[in-house]
Amino acid sequence: NTPPTSKALLSGALRKKLQGYVGFANLPNQVHRKSVKKGFNFTIMVVGESGLGKSTLVNTLFNAPLYPPKDHVGLSEESPKTVGIQVLNTDIEENGVRLKLNVVDTPGFGDFINNEERPLAQGAYIEFMKRLHNKVNLIPVIAKSDTMTNEEVAAFKERILLDIAHHKIKIYHAQHYDCDDQETINETKDVMSKIPFAIVGSDKAVETSDGRVVRGRSYPWGTIEVDNEEHCDFVKLRQMLIRTHMEELREFTNDIQYENYRTEKLVGLGYQQDQTVFREIDPLAKLAEERALHEAKLVKMEQDMKNVFQQKVQEKEAKLTQSEAELYAKHKEMKDALEKQRLDLEEKKRRFEQGRPITPEKEKEKKKKGFGFANK
Ligand code: GDP
Repeated sequence: NTPPTSKALLSGALRKKLQGYVGFANLPNQVHRKSVKKGFNFTIMVVGESGLGKSTLVNTLFNAPLYPPKDHVGLSEESPKTVGIQVLNTDIEENGVRLKLNVVDTPGFGDFINNEERPLAQGAYIEFMKRLHNKVNLIPVIAKSDTMTNEEVAAFKERILLDIAHHKIKIYHAQHYDCDDQETINETKDVMSKIPFAIVGSDKAVETSDGRVVRGRSYPWGTIEVDNEEHCDFVKLRQMLIRTHMEELREFTNDIQYENYRTEKLVGLGYQQDQTVFREIDPLAKLAEERALHEAKLVKMEQDMKNVFQQKVQEKEAKLTQSEAELYAKHKEMKDALEKQRLDLEEKKRRFEQGRPITPEKEKEKKKKGFGFANK
């Protein structure tokens, strides 16, 4: 990602010879220590209809009963098959290295397509691959290859490769590097030549006619061995997936596919990708950009402060309204109490007056009042 000019400058600097031991030659060991401590994460998704051999293949790959045994006959007879996603998380360990394995299963994928109608089923797989090839590393596999003759396997492989090419589906290509020795390069090429891998899965041990105990499947005419490269491509698939290219597969998903997906999503949301890394650095443009960033930051801070202020004001207002209501209630209560007291007193006064003998002055006054009242 470095612009060409600085690349030229850098390469000059890189040639400098060190005067003594500095220590960065130890970086690979640091990475190694950290990786072993942290453990690794690997996610694999298996796609295909029920009964295809997906769980057997995963168990065979990791040589562990990751999937509990399932009863296919019972499943198809009683409970309806569902199309959904299931994730199986397991921690496995080999020579002190921990691997957190996530297997994404798609039980029932393709079950609703009548597999007798080949073009339709094939169409669904092609559509599926097209939707996924930019998001995951696709590795096509022919399951249960022991149920086909060598010629049938070869013809099927050719057909699959033609379809993939015709529909421009991107499948995973194992890379080899400049630093790889010739043997590794040949190995990688050999692995690639086997795609789509013709697989036989079995987590059971069987005895061969010459008395060896192997992982395989026994037939009346002989035994097919999972780990025998003459019999199937399982060894090559495992080699690529686990022994030589697991890290590259992870890296490709993280650094390329996920980043592309993210960019696509952000662009969809209206964000523009930051191109600064790829263009020559223009100091003025950079300054303007920094200023814009700073201004944006200030605006944001101001907005944040405003929000806090507004919130505080609202809280205060709510409190005031509440105390006002309380005061009003108290006032009313006191007023009512006073009014009651007044009425009581008046009543007492009335009663007191009624109980007093009427004096001639009072009689006169009463008459006057009555008169006055009648005149109103
Ligand atoms: P899933 O539904 O795709 O997970 O299929 P399973 O792994 O449960 O396998 C379904 C059936 O196919 C089981 O009876 C397996 O023993 C059998 N099976 C799995 N892999 C192979 C294989 O490579 N060859 C043959 N002949 N049978 C297999």
